[in-house]
Order: sequence, then structure tokens, then C-alpha cells
Amino acid sequence: MSEGILFIVSAPSGAGKTSLVKALLARDPGLSLSVSCTTRAPRAGEQDGVHYHFIDQARFRESVAAGEFLEHAEVFGNLYGTREVDVREALAAGQDLILEIDWQGARQVRERFRSAAGIFVLPPSIVELERRLRGRGTDSDAVIAGRMAQARDEMAHVEEYAYLVVNAVFDTALDALAAIVLAERQRFERQRPRLGPLLDALA
Ligand code: GDP
Ligand code: ADP
Ligand code: 5GP
Repeated sequence: MSEGILFIVSAPSGAGKTSLVKALLARDPGLSLSVSCTTRAPRAGEQDGVHYHFIDQARFRESVAAGEFLEHAEVFGNLYGTREVDVREALAAGQDLILEIDWQGARQVRERFRSAAGIFVLPPSIVELERRLRGRGTDSDAVIAGRMAQARDEMAHVEEYAYLVVNAVFDTALDALAAIVLAERQRFERQRPRLGPLLDALA
């Protein structure tokens, strides 16, 4: 079986990456989403083990010390990390896997997985970004202000990603994401292991 493809999706908070990724997963059974660990408190409706593994600071630090994270970073004053075992198991099973992580984590992952495909999601404007964060209704004014202040820092790293999607019209952005996934699957070097016998037969 071919190893799965690793996709990294980053965006400023509120750009719509979680909604886009959720819709993409519903369309494509070959894709799955890595569930991160975080020290952030759950939002209304968020379930442990589904949206995040919600853990306390002490547990998080233990996992860092034990080398369990493929990457970890502090974002908006909370700790977030991706467990390495989850990523390796999914890829080994041939599952294509999406990491929804910030730019700091993306850098660490690229160091370890050179072939990871990085996708950055931008909002159509700063005004619209704030409108979406407020419209989501999950964060206090203080939290929203903090996330808006950090949005420019996150967006300053857009050039570190191979792919860029502007999430203006949702369905158009979703089509673009699906096209990126399809294009990555068609890369010659990714098909070679599976199609070796065909290539030999046609040579
Ligand atoms: P949202 O982006 O507004 O939905 O807010 P979240 O609280 O879900 O995520 C906060 C930040 O943490 C975002 O910048 C994410 O990209 C980042 N993040 C989430 N999971 C991970 C992870 O596993 N590792 C790293 N390094 N960052 C993560
Ligand atoms: P992120 O995960 O990047 O923080 P979310 O997926 O939570 O962002 O989206 C933030 C809010 O914006 C949500 O309420 C979502 O429904 C809304 N949203 C996402 N994409 C669009 C879009 N293209 N047009 C309008 N609203 C959107
Ligand atoms: P939220 O708190 O709104 O769920 O997420 C805020 C930010 O944290 C998002 O921009 C998201 O990309 C980032 N994030 C979530 N999980 C991880 C993770 O495991 N690693 C890293 N580096 N960032 C993460």
C-alpha cells in the first residue's frame, strides 16, 4: 500500500479553515483529520477526542518531555500539539491526513516530512475576518481582539506554503481545496509505487 499524503492547513483564526476542512472530509473518504492536543478550554459543543484532546498544562509538558509530539506550539497563550504516533499510523495505513496547525507547527512538520503539502487559507479582508470571528459566537470580545491582533503575524507566513486559497465564496474555496488534494494524489512520485507494474508493462 502507498503511504498516505500529509496536508498542512493553516490560516488566521476565523478564516474558515475548520469549516472548509470539515466539508472536505465529508466529500472525501480517503482523507482524515488529525486530532490535536490542546490546553485551551473546550468551546460550547466541542467534544474531547473529536475536536481536540483537551489536556492540562502538566500533561502537555509530560508529553513534550517524552517526545510524543511531532510538533507543538503556543498559540494565543494556549499550547497545541500533534501526536506523532497518530500521524505515523494514519500515513502507514495509506490514509491521507490533514493537520490543522499554525505556522510554527507547520515549520516543524516540514522539517520531518519534506513531502507534506502546505495550504494557507486567507480571508477576503480583515473586516470580513473579524465579522466571521464574531459571527461564530464562540469567543469573548477579549479573545477575539487577541486573535485579530495575531492574524497579521500568522498571515506574514503565507509564502512558506505551496498553495493559497482565499475563502471568499465558501463553495469556491472548497472546490479549490479538493483540487489541491487531487493534484497532490496525481503527482508522479506518489503514483510510482502503486503504478510500477503498469509503467513496466507499458514500457
Ligand atoms: P480556530 O483556528 O479559531 O478554530 O482556533 P483553534 O483554537 O482551534 O486553534 C488555535 C491555533 O492553534 C490555530 O492557529 C491552529 O492552527 C493552532 N493549532 C491547532 N492544532 C494545532 C496543533 O496540533 N499543533 C500546532 N502547532 N498548532 C495547532
Ligand atoms: P477557523 O477554523 O479558521 O477559525 P471557522 O471554520 O471556525 O474558522 O470559521 C469562522 C466562521 O466563519 C464560522 O462561523 C464559519 O461558519 C464562517 N465562514 C467560514 N467560511 C465562510 C465563508 N466563505 N463565508 C462566510 N462565512 C464563512
Ligand atoms: P482554536 O483555539 O480556535 O481551536 O485554534 C486556534 C489556532 O490553533 C488555529 O489557528 C489552529 O491552526 C491552531 N492549532 C490547532 N491545533 C494545533 C496544533 O496541534 N498545532 C499547532 N501548531 N497549531 C494548532
